[in-house]
Amino acid sequence: MKTIFEPFRIKSVEPIRMTTRDERRELLREAHYNLFSLQSKDVLIDLLTDSGTGAMSANQWAAIMRGDESYAGSPSFDRFVAAVGNLMPFEHIIPVHQGRAAEAILFSILGGAGNNIPSNTHFDTTRGNIEASGAIAHDLVIAEGNDPASLHPFKGNMDLKRLEAYLGEHGDTVPCVMLTITNNAGGGQPVSLENIRGVSKLARDFGKPFIIDGCRFAENAWFIKSREPGQGNRSIPDIVRDCFACADGMTMSAKKDGMANIGGWLALNDPDMAEQARARLIQTEGFPTYGGLAGRDLEAIAQGLEEVVDEDYLRYRVATNDYIIARLDELGVPVVKPAGGHAVFVDARQWLPHIEPLAYPGQALVCGLYETGGIRSCEIGSVMFGRQPDGSETPAAMELVRLAIPRRTYTQSHADYIVEVFAELAEVRTELRGFRIAQQPRLLRHFSCSFEPLGGGNAVTADDAGVLQLPRRTA
Ligand SMILES: *Cc1c(COP(=O)(O)O)cnc(C)c1O
Repeated sequence: MKTIFEPFRIKSVEPIRMTTRDERRELLREAHYNLFSLQSKDVLIDLLTDSGTGAMSANQWAAIMRGDESYAGSPSFDRFVAAVGNLMPFEHIIPVHQGRAAEAILFSILGGAGNNIPSNTHFDTTRGNIEASGAIAHDLVIAEGNDPASLHPFKGNMDLKRLEAYLGEHGDTVPCVMLTITNNAGGGQPVSLENIRGVSKLARDFGKPFIIDGCRFAENAWFIKSREPGQGNRSIPDIVRDCFACADGMTMSAKKDGMANIGGWLALNDPDMAEQARARLIQTEGFPTYGGLAGRDLEAIAQGLEEVVDEDYLRYRVATNDYIIARLDELGVPVVKPAGGHAVFVDARQWLPHIEPLAYPGQALVCGLYETGGIRSCEIGSVMFGRQPDGSETPAAMELVRLAIPRRTYTQSHADYIVEVFAELAEVRTELRGFRIAQQPRLLRHFSCSFEPLGGGNAVTADDAGVLQLPRRTA
């Protein structure tokens, strides 16, 4: 069957306000070509992130009504702990308001100057929290993970040889070993169960706690079931339990595979570490039976965890990415393959070779997608990574554009529309122009910097020069 069967029907809808190309051209200009500055009502399809942007189910909304807002000892906390413990059998489960709060607490215990913390690829908030503690974050993903063209089924795997050498070299300065499943910063690529067990064994051999960043654990389990030899007949909850059984703790953002709009947790087996974590939690997040959350959020997460391991849901989720990637591939748009769990990545450097890396081809594509079709996507390239601490600019390793797919939010018609917008853009791609950054803050510039289009685009009329992205066409 060619149809992606969305395994739900729609009970409540949010209208999308239609806009014209001319309106979007003007909105882009007013936003100084930074899509973080757009209002969401001016976006037709919002693919900026899959974090906290998914649709909740009728049962989650029902659970929200059941939320008990008692300060201490809420039954909503018990349901939350039972739901997490059913999949991730850790001794101590500590709610937090989102994933980075779990990281901040964890690295207040395990970080610190002189320490070295390896992972396949640290997510940016993880790296940020490690570095803020004074420790150094290292990425040890397998070589295939850095090659957009490699078809390796588990491009998120840790390089076990490098990890072993690393643990030997850094010795006592390594407080823990981390692993991100799926590997978000590496394109949402999965990690095999065999590799998870391999990392666990090395951590044990060297006497280090093994902590999983489990934000997309269900998508990762789906890839294990569908790609790893011997796993095809196993249930998703069983695979998930195996993944976490060999870890000593985890950090989690419930905004991803918690199917909630906010939330997260830190889980640990070690009682001393858990005690330190709870002390910190009370300082920064709240009492241990609610963390930074309302009782209703704990209920939404508990229900979400039952729904996210449903195979019909996961099949639909990954099929959407596969579908978009296959069609973009047919159009000749270079995409990162195979499909990851939560997003489609387009290689803007390869598609727009006439734009130099430091004229930000990813930003040109992001603006082109918005002007052409009202799609909001995210540059992951030299805008995000190009600025060095000394203020100089170095091109990023890759110039990618990420189309992150919110959970249960858009349909196959929307996917077809996205592909159509790319088809239209393909006709004018050589006319897309690069950008210069006009103003930027010192840190995390991609959220707030302003851009100016570079002049001299060949098909842009004099009237448009310096302002407009594409030749004027009818909306
Ligand atoms: C989103 C994310 C985080 C941080 O979670 P927040 O809820 O956004 O704070 C950490 N690690 C990974 C892999 C993520 O995708």
